[in-house]
Amino acid sequence: MSNCAIVGINWGDEGKGRMVDLLTEDYDIVVRFQGGGNAGHTVKNELGKFALHLLPSGIFRKGVMNILGNGVALDPENLLTEIKDVRSKGISITPENLMISDRASLLLPWHRDLDELEEQRLKDKKYGSTKQGIAPFYSDKYQKKTLMAGELFYPDKLLSHLKDIMEWKDLTLTSVYGHEPYTMDMLEDWLRRSCEGIMPFIKNTGAFLKKASKEGKNILFEAQLGSLRDLDYGIYPYTTSSNTMAAFAPIGSGLPSARIDDIVGVVKAYSTCVGEGPFVCEMSGDEAEKLREAGNEYGAKTGRPRRVGPIDIVATRYGVEVQAATEIALTKLDVLSYMEEIPVCVRYEIEGQETDDFPFPLALEDAKPVIKYLPGWKTDISGIRSFEALPREAREYVKFIEENISCPITYISVGPERHSIIIRK
Ligand code: GDP
Repeated sequence: MSNCAIVGINWGDEGKGRMVDLLTEDYDIVVRFQGGGNAGHTVKNELGKFALHLLPSGIFRKGVMNILGNGVALDPENLLTEIKDVRSKGISITPENLMISDRASLLLPWHRDLDELEEQRLKDKKYGSTKQGIAPFYSDKYQKKTLMAGELFYPDKLLSHLKDIMEWKDLTLTSVYGHEPYTMDMLEDWLRRSCEGIMPFIKNTGAFLKKASKEGKNILFEAQLGSLRDLDYGIYPYTTSSNTMAAFAPIGSGLPSARIDDIVGVVKAYSTCVGEGPFVCEMSGDEAEKLREAGNEYGAKTGRPRRVGPIDIVATRYGVEVQAATEIALTKLDVLSYMEEIPVCVRYEIEGQETDDFPFPLALEDAKPVIKYLPGWKTDISGIRSFEALPREAREYVKFIEENISCPITYISVGPERHSIIIRK
């Protein structure tokens, strides 16, 4: 048996989905352990191109069980839409290949409203939320003011619990934000429209995982976003509201006793960042536009143009360290093929001092990137499948990153398709 976590090392959008899609070949179970439908994993394989938001990326593999763990923000409405969309492209999704933890908490209809209302209140101080209700959801979960999916099977108790929460939430909606209150009619309608459809998938997934683990099944834990968006270790408050760390996988998956043998950290060959917050190595103008176009860097969920920059060694090294990554998948190397020379942010300069250490979030605002240029390769590498066949400059670029982040780069992707990959083990 071997367990693996696939996690993001940077700000998210590193290409985790494509790595999960590739590596699920060797796994029996894929579990999403945190986050909600507020980001997207894009997967391109022989079945088509898919933008997944909440569904685990193992959904395309026959014989793989996909689980939404207790740590996710379960938005029933969005999940049903996503299931319908993926099914319409010929993928079978049944309780035979998808299960939802009965302990996953439900994102309630007002969470999206609150996200929107709070961003409006903040005006130019907004956090850049995707307005999917994730922050209000997690704060309510920790206040114990939401429902667990398993409660749907106890209709009488469910309605009285939901009424209590609604009365409490209506206070905030009406008196703080001047919003219309919710009513039980609205919520009963939501239960019928959005929750009944997910009930066949809701199971005691903790018991399933425990049994599977005893039987020696291989489990893959799939994270959303990346190290720098982790609630505790990221660029707070411009983080997400959950823990994106491999260390959280056992807790959020429903198998708290899990041992993770291998942690694959996904690093993009350059940097991107969606939304607000400090982004030390940000490029601007034409240079940025070219990279954004080459990498097609627009948000999978929102279509927002992503902020772009050179690879940030300081942030990446920190990301690798906090994830305790055992190996690295470097993605989108092909995107850099147009560059004459390739910028790399090797250190930060803060108040005249150069540093290799990732600083406290507030200090990031004063940090400036120290850029080194490495020679480009100026040739299409998307058809290359072995490390030795890469141009010397591309090999040097990979080795430079590897040496500076102190973690072996074992996968290099050179295109979005499942097999556009160089395996270096
Ligand atoms: P995730 O959330 O970490 O899975 O990342 P996203 O799906 O948001 O972003 C990765 C994007 O890059 C997707 O559109 C992928 O199809 C694409 N992609 C992944 N790997 C490669 C690669 O090696 N080369 C190119 N050109 N595109 C890639």
